[in-house]
Amino acid sequence: MATMSGPAQEDAARLEVFRQEVRAFIAENLPEELRARVERGYDLLSRDDHSFWQKKLYDRGWAAPAWPVQYGGTGWSAAMRQVFEDECGRASCPRTQPQGVKMIGPIIFTHGTPAQKERFLQPILKSDEWWCQGYSEPGAGSDLAALSTRAVAEGGHYRVNGQKIWTTLAHWADWMFCLVRTDSSGRRQEGITFLLIDMKSPGITVRPIVSLDLAHHFNEVFFQDVMVPMENRIGEEGRGWTYAKALLGHERVAITEHGRAHERLDRLKRIAREARINGNELIDDAAFRAQLAQVEIELMAAQATTLRLLEGQASPALSSVLKLRSSEITQRLSRMNLDALGPHALRFDLEQAEQGPSQGDPLPSFAIGRGVEYLRWRALTVAGGTSEIQRNIIAKMIFGD
Ligand SMILES: Cc1cc2nc3c(=O)[nH]c(=O)nc-3n(C[C@H](O)[C@H](O)[C@H](O)COP(=O)(O)OP(=O)(O)OC[C@H]3O[C@@H](n4cnc5c(N)ncnc54)[C@H](O)[C@@H]3O)c2cc1C
Repeated sequence: MATMSGPAQEDAARLEVFRQEVRAFIAENLPEELRARVERGYDLLSRDDHSFWQKKLYDRGWAAPAWPVQYGGTGWSAAMRQVFEDECGRASCPRTQPQGVKMIGPIIFTHGTPAQKERFLQPILKSDEWWCQGYSEPGAGSDLAALSTRAVAEGGHYRVNGQKIWTTLAHWADWMFCLVRTDSSGRRQEGITFLLIDMKSPGITVRPIVSLDLAHHFNEVFFQDVMVPMENRIGEEGRGWTYAKALLGHERVAITEHGRAHERLDRLKRIAREARINGNELIDDAAFRAQLAQVEIELMAAQATTLRLLEGQASPALSSVLKLRSSEITQRLSRMNLDALGPHALRFDLEQAEQGPSQGDPLPSFAIGRGVEYLRWRALTVAGGTSEIQRNIIAKMIFGD
């Protein structure tokens, strides 16, 4: 068997020291109540939970490891960033607000004006300002270039009219990054402009959509004569499609969340030690063990691919491959969690996912929230572009148009 030597061994040792540092930070700063709530799948239903954790990370200088140091990044290597994400996911830390830190932040520091960087980056890092994504419309989902929300130049402003849908957390957001149509004459993609819109602007209405899991994540957002200053445009008018695609690449990598998948894998192993099949532990069932090994191998392979992407050794288009594989792995894991729980899996109780076990309830604590999580994770193969669309992108990448 090959063993590590020299620099590789030193790198591994340094990485291990770093891993311990991250673990110690989490142990010191993440309150048990918050950790347990995230573990139960209640994540994303409280703005305060996210802000609390993001501010802790900000104080430590760790709010946005992937950002350049000059804008508040950490300067960590790709491997260190992966260790950090892994540990945060495994320890059930709340997410940093993804629309801010992972999606619009990189677009602003790459394509924004100095004034935009000055205005927006710090509040994103500190979780003082939250963002939402105004891409999808009732007539434009997979075919995003069909979008019809219109922006007409008027003096120093754009007058915006139209509607967005499935806008995650618009009800908490201070700002929206939004795709609007400024030209309908040529190729559809060439008439799209990327705007930053203050959600407090007169003329914006946010209407909740309550989803099948009874949670309120989604919204419809309506724009009626909303005036947006031209200085809130990212880059050039009509080039919004380029920035929009770059942002989708960041979103697809953000969706992979391998640390969280590992946490689910570890939990599955725990459940399988408790669950019985014909009197024997489920973990000893050969068919189950084969499935478990398969999903673990696939997760490790996806992590290795992510590392190549983070190290810049792979085409950014690989984000579609990663999104496709990782969302499938995550869904498989949540399905296996339900299967392992047997009849306990039938319980669906959002309140319990928030508050934890109630007295006298025979439901084992590790079963709480699994039903909620299973339903929520069905959405992973749709959000950020469906699996079919990722396959189309991958096919185009390999075979051309
Ligand atoms: C959890 C979640 C969060 C979301 N958050 C946001 C958000 O914050 N902001 C935002 O703007 N949007 C958001 N969305 C919307 C998301 O981007 C869209 O749902 C997605 O792009 C698909 O669009 P659609 O729902 O209109 O489905 P459609 O585009 O109508 O697709 C319906 C079906 O047809 C298939 N299909 C369509 N075109 C093709 C094709 N060319 N080839 C093969 N199959 C095709 C699709 O794969 C799908 O199965 C969110 C969605 C989810 C699930």
